[in-house]
Amino acid sequence: MSLYRGRFAPSPTGELHAGSLVAAMASYLDARAHDGAWLVRIEDIDPPRDIPGAGDSILKTLASLELFSDEPVLWQHDRDEAYREALRRLTAEGFVYGCACSRKEILAEDSRLGLAPGVYPGTCRHGTGGRAVRAMRFLTTAEPVTFHDRLVGSITQNVEHDVGDFVLKRADGLWAYQLAVVTDDGFQGITDIVRGADLVDNTPRQILLARALGLPIPRYMHLPLVLNKEGQKLSKQQGATPLNPDDLKGEIDRAWQHLGFPSLGADTITAFWKAALPLWKERYV
Ligand code: GLU
Repeated sequence: MSLYRGRFAPSPTGELHAGSLVAAMASYLDARAHDGAWLVRIEDIDPPRDIPGAGDSILKTLASLELFSDEPVLWQHDRDEAYREALRRLTAEGFVYGCACSRKEILAEDSRLGLAPGVYPGTCRHGTGGRAVRAMRFLTTAEPVTFHDRLVGSITQNVEHDVGDFVLKRADGLWAYQLAVVTDDGFQGITDIVRGADLVDNTPRQILLARALGLPIPRYMHLPLVLNKEGQKLSKQQGATPLNPDDLKGEIDRAWQHLGFPSLGADTITAFWKAALPLWKERYV
């Protein structure tokens, strides 16, 4: 029995686009190539950004691509108690502190200290000086985090310097992506994360969190991004063109080529998956 457990974890901020298909395809093929499980998780923890109905619509599109989660789909809106528990545990272990800073104050302090804009300068590490707590942050250390990415190779980041103590619970009371994703990858026993390279610089933060929560560290594969004509990454939130339901074979073929394989010219979607699997296996297993 294979211990491989992979996942595709879209945020329902819009319809799946060519970039999401690349992540869905690669995570699915990698799971199948390892005789593993492939899970779908809808990351709907950000009501201001989520679009009502987008989660169901994503699942429908996946079904038309013949992609089905091996286990019931996990919806992050059901996971409030688990995130609360994770925060409780991190707090008990001394990894969490309350922060009173506004974004504007952080940017002003960054420019005063010569830090990159947005890096948290640690202002509230030793207390807020009586100011009301807005967000909860994770206490980082200067020790660099290194991991091996199956495509990109070795990556090192000093999280304290490059990001600063990062947010676990936001000022608007919502859970931060970092806390939710690590809690759920742990809960679902995910061994392998295959996703877009836009998240590669989030990975060291997630490794720090997983370590602090006593969770195993998954293997990582970050995929080359699909860019639009202006050279920007496709983003659901910014209204990237959804997959064309009338040309799913074409969409699949383009995603496959984007992953660096020659077109398979498959007649059906079923035939595509069947033909792609041994090629993926040959290259990545
Ligand atoms: N929910 C994130 C997104 O749609 C992806 C999370 C992940 O793969 O870690 O961009």
